[in-house]
Amino acid sequence: MIERLLADYKGIDKGPLLIVIAGLHGNEMAGVDAVETLSQMLVDEGQKDPSFRYHGRFIGIAGNIPALSSGKRMIDLDLNRIWLDDRQSIINSTEFQEMNSIQKLIHSSVIDHPINESIFIMDLHTTSSPRGIFAVCTNSPNSKKITGELHCPVITNMTEQLRGSMIQYYMDHTIEGRKITSFAFEGGQHDDENSISRLIAGMVNCMRSIGAVLPQNVESRHDIVLQEYATGLPKFCKITYIHKIENANLWKMNPGYYGFQIVKKDEIVAKYDGKDVAIPHDALLLMPLYQDTGKEGFFLVNEE
Ligand SMILES: [Zn+2]
Repeated sequence: MIERLLADYKGIDKGPLLIVIAGLHGNEMAGVDAVETLSQMLVDEGQKDPSFRYHGRFIGIAGNIPALSSGKRMIDLDLNRIWLDDRQSIINSTEFQEMNSIQKLIHSSVIDHPINESIFIMDLHTTSSPRGIFAVCTNSPNSKKITGELHCPVITNMTEQLRGSMIQYYMDHTIEGRKITSFAFEGGQHDDENSISRLIAGMVNCMRSIGAVLPQNVESRHDIVLQEYATGLPKFCKITYIHKIENANLWKMNPGYYGFQIVKKDEIVAKYDGKDVAIPHDALLLMPLYQDTGKEGFFLVNEE
């Protein structure tokens, strides 16, 4: 059984609260493994190196536990599309219960943290296609700044395009008057074992950016592992097209596509219900769908 609270590491020194959510999508177990591994790494580092000091608190929270336990993206609803103010229509769903439980834990962690310290929420994901390591920021300048320091492209308008994401919810809502900086990080393909190292590297980079760990305590491998795919890619990108689909069972992406691949106008990249699907304009391809659940066949991005 996966526990809701995956990690709770408190530094000796005062500092920010970093809350990391893993597995809002149940077929994305890499995030859960990454949070648990990093939590143990912090404990080990503290014992091994007496000069290592963590500033603040790191909390890891599991997302959709029933879906994670069955290896499915969701049970009834997509847990990263339902963070809206009006929740009347979804109260009978599994994901409504999950969302409430996550929200309660976030709430209590925030109000327990010293009032003058900053609060961050990082949401970890993986994708069905290879490569495509990127971050997603909200409209907040702080969110853009922190994601901009990760060694990967940042999608700046995704939360405007996908309604009901958790990070947008915490951009729009304070907790007892306290502002939260939220962002997401995609670490690569679901079952690629390197995705776990990339998710760890993303969290470590973030801990450095927010001042939870000192730069001299961060090993360079955490930078290298992210730089691997980022070379030559734009820093900030905007989504310029989303290919929405009704039924993922009718979707068949042509083989061999990956994240941030260059695609040209009129290129045929998939079939839907037996018909060819063409690219509407020159762009970089993002998250081509290679699984039978999801509402987007692919995204296109262009440099901001
Ligand atoms: Zn996901």
